[in-house]
Amino acid sequence: MLDQPIILLDVETTGANPAYDRITEIGLVEADAGRPTGEWSTLVNPGVSIPPAIQALTGITNEMVALAPTFAEVAEELHRRLEGKLLVAHNARFDYGFLRNEFRRAGVRYSAKLLCTVKLSRKLFPRHAHHNLDSLIARHGVVCSARHRALGDARVLWELLREWRAEIGAETLREAVTSLLRTPSAPPGLPDLSFDDIPEAPGVYLFYGENDLPLYVGKSVNLRSRVMAHFASDHRETREMRIAQQVRRVEWIETAGELGALIREARLVKQLAPLHNRLLRREAELCSFHWRPERPGAPPQLVSAREIDFAQFDSLYGLFRSRRAALEALREIAQAHGLCLILTGLEKGRGPCFAHQLKRCHGACVGKESAAAHAVRLMRAFSGLRMQAWPFRGRIGVRETDASGGRSEVHVLDRWCYLGSAHSEEELHEINSGAKPVFDLDTYRVLARFLKRSHGAVSVVDLAA
Ligand SMILES: [Zn+2]
Repeated sequence: MLDQPIILLDVETTGANPAYDRITEIGLVEADAGRPTGEWSTLVNPGVSIPPAIQALTGITNEMVALAPTFAEVAEELHRRLEGKLLVAHNARFDYGFLRNEFRRAGVRYSAKLLCTVKLSRKLFPRHAHHNLDSLIARHGVVCSARHRALGDARVLWELLREWRAEIGAETLREAVTSLLRTPSAPPGLPDLSFDDIPEAPGVYLFYGENDLPLYVGKSVNLRSRVMAHFASDHRETREMRIAQQVRRVEWIETAGELGALIREARLVKQLAPLHNRLLRREAELCSFHWRPERPGAPPQLVSAREIDFAQFDSLYGLFRSRRAALEALREIAQAHGLCLILTGLEKGRGPCFAHQLKRCHGACVGKESAAAHAVRLMRAFSGLRMQAWPFRGRIGVRETDASGGRSEVHVLDRWCYLGSAHSEEELHEINSGAKPVFDLDTYRVLARFLKRSHGAVSVVDLAA
């Protein structure tokens, strides 16, 4: 655990603003290889009067600091102790901000890697709402000899780390620390972005650039860690770097579960056409082959997505971006399997077809092969193209509830078409009675993949009746 040399530090101050307020006391515990190696503390003369409320809270009075050294006078020794070490503090940004400003006034450059014990506690014990020092002292049974004094609080941090290691094990603690230390800084165009504000929940996130240009839409089961991954410094992918440089605003929509996030992502990408999402498929000409093996003489019919009757979904083969692509695919299949051009609908008129003249077609067009035998071979050739059959009786709702049980949604689906998501019985009724199914390739893919992967472990409401 924390094998490197670390400093557990706490400062007392004249107020809460690191830009104007000053340090009145510094206390630190030094540790290395998991053992404490020293302690150091000093009162600091802030050069300004300490407000009475703060004097009452910390017990540090104007009289006590009157003869203490100024920060400038201890800066050199303090810097020697801190230099190159991981700085551990409770609400670390606060202490770090004060230290940096005091060092700057003293003409000393200081920067350090930070580990915040509030964030660490939140990560290790997410079920608890409060992570302030008093709550942690009470929860983990740590003794504090001098609460609100710098060294007293710094010692508490050390005791907490020891306690946590004993409670959850060195390995889990190390993993949590490592993951926190990897936390990237906010991108340059978004200096105020706090990753802590982003929920660790499923949903969709949107990045916008200058003039609110949509840059990227993504989804995740954990919004915070996914957004952070975009800005991790070890990311060297060109697209990620561009997004990090261009982003000016981040938005997110929480969903109850993964399916809701997947569906919204597909729709937002289509709606906003963000700069860095993959090029959108143009679906104006999306089409498929409709064919029934039990009618062997009738060749496959090319149907466009708009005319597809989704009740006959299991008679559909393939989804193609254009009629041309569909016919090309069929021609390749016919050639590879020695099928007849007339019985596959690629050629009009009477036999022999052109392929039979080239001795490719087995001769269904001239009676050498029965239509039924040809249909069997066509079915085999088509098997890879077959659309996944809708595994339900008809219209369904898929209910998703988030981990805490607080947020719940019902996604209304009908034969691979998405009709909407309801958060109440009224909304469900409205969607169920109003919306007409419109086929969308991305939604089909999202749903087919999701249902396959979840192996039936979804909460389904039958809406067929
Ligand atoms: Zn033929």
